[in-house]
Amino acid sequence: MTMLYHTTGFVLSCCDHQEADRRYTAYTTDYGKIDFLARGGHKPLAKLTPHLESLAEVRLLIVFGKTFLTVAGVDRLRSFPQLSSQLSLLSLAKSGLHLVDIGTREQEQDPSVYALIGEWLDFLNQQEDVSPERAAFLLGSFVWKLMAVTGYRPELYRCLACRRPIERGSYRWHGLKGGVVCETCVRLDEATWFTARPLDDETLKLVRFSLQQSFQDQLRPHLPFESLSRYHETIESFIISHFPTIPANSLRASCLVFSGC
Ligand SMILES: [Zn+2]
Repeated sequence: MTMLYHTTGFVLSCCDHQEADRRYTAYTTDYGKIDFLARGGHKPLAKLTPHLESLAEVRLLIVFGKTFLTVAGVDRLRSFPQLSSQLSLLSLAKSGLHLVDIGTREQEQDPSVYALIGEWLDFLNQQEDVSPERAAFLLGSFVWKLMAVTGYRPELYRCLACRRPIERGSYRWHGLKGGVVCETCVRLDEATWFTARPLDDETLKLVRFSLQQSFQDQLRPHLPFESLSRYHETIESFIISHFPTIPANSLRASCLVFSGC
């Protein structure tokens, strides 16, 4: 038995499937992340792909079949026209969508993730251009926020072990355990915390800022090279520990290289 459902979503990725079909992954309001096919053997594919393969919020008509989900119709609800005219912003938008794709699990519906995607694309659509350094910092902010709404909010104020507020210059970072640990606890239990690495006040400040403040605010902080490098080491240790799939590229590399749909 086949069933037809409407939902709205953002297409996260697409690729060829067998000879004539296209396969899409979308984050939807009703089902979270889903995979579906657009069948190429029929003429509708040519009508569907322009909507499915441009950055847009779309309304989807999905056929829930025995084996696959198939798209039967698509309407564009909201588009982001500025993005297609600026390669650096388009690349940044797509990098964010790719991170949602690999950072979330299938069919776990979460309105906060959906809202974050919309906020990200809206914000980028209002920009003119950003430097690669700023782009990587923005993408970092997107990842911290994504992690926070998917249940991996990092602990940035209290020691993970003793729960006391951390003091300036006297703590370390543990990506796998999810935040900061005070030097006293590291000394008392070296077996548990031996992989905790140094983290300086300036970098922690940047991490807090990029998690808590709006995307617009991320355009403000001065980004010295050294702090930015440590910031990215910190976020990448967190991604490696908590993402269901590890990204092939670092955030910095993905802001320098345009990746197609
Ligand atoms: Zn402690």
